[in-house]
Amino acid sequence: MVPFTVEFLGTGTSQGIPIIQCKCEVCQSKDPRDKRLRCSIAISTGLKTLIVDIGPDFRQQLLRSSYPTIDQVLLTHEHNDHVAGMDDLRPYNFKQKTDIPVYLMERVGEDLKSRYAYAFGPKKYPGTPGYELHYIQHGDTWEWEGISITAFEVMHGNLPILGFRFNDFVYITDAKSIPEHSMKYLKNIDKLVLNALQEEHHWSHFTMSEAREMSFGLEPKETYFTHLSHTMGRHEKIQDKLASNQFFAFDGLTLKLG
Ligand SMILES: [Zn+2]
Ligand SMILES: [Zn+2]
Ligand SMILES: [Zn+2]
Repeated sequence: MVPFTVEFLGTGTSQGIPIIQCKCEVCQSKDPRDKRLRCSIAISTGLKTLIVDIGPDFRQQLLRSSYPTIDQVLLTHEHNDHVAGMDDLRPYNFKQKTDIPVYLMERVGEDLKSRYAYAFGPKKYPGTPGYELHYIQHGDTWEWEGISITAFEVMHGNLPILGFRFNDFVYITDAKSIPEHSMKYLKNIDKLVLNALQEEHHWSHFTMSEAREMSFGLEPKETYFTHLSHTMGRHEKIQDKLASNQFFAFDGLTLKLG
């Protein structure tokens, strides 16, 4: 199988960590692992790069982590913390002299067309970003740079959104439950990324204990938790809540696959 890396560009929930003006010990921490930008990953073959979700910190993330091109973008859903940086694809449009392929649900495409109306339609303003939209749905499979990608549905409260499988690596964010029809895509996982917001109940995100249960049920070799709230606690103190093959992700952590 083609080897690839997965870098966590961001691992924080929608406000990011630190939260503006929050005085809690996590937001005030000097540990770089307690600085969590909004959720996104970069998948790299060494030559080509694919990004999952482009939130409001995208510019800062791509200044920190150098990827010479962006060759494909996947969007899990249309919430602001996952799409608000789409305009900042422009430097890649200009450098690559092409529209960037974006794989997304049709509903998410409609949202993009209203958020970024200036980038679509007949009156496209010069210098605006260029997207080549590819509509996908549950069960769709395609290949990118020798990596097999499958989209599957997870439930974000009442909202169906997408998780993605890349060979034996699985990325799920913003889920509260995983429907039965997606379970067939979640067998024999090497590394699993799963959202875990906080200890307290939340109507549209897995809590820490729900995410841990889901991880035990799916039996991946390793699980990495992401989309964390500041109420989870300081990175150095929380690892002992987990089994030996479960980890809290942090910004900049890079996994090797294949
Ligand atoms: Zn805080
Ligand atoms: Zn969301
Ligand atoms: Zn989110």
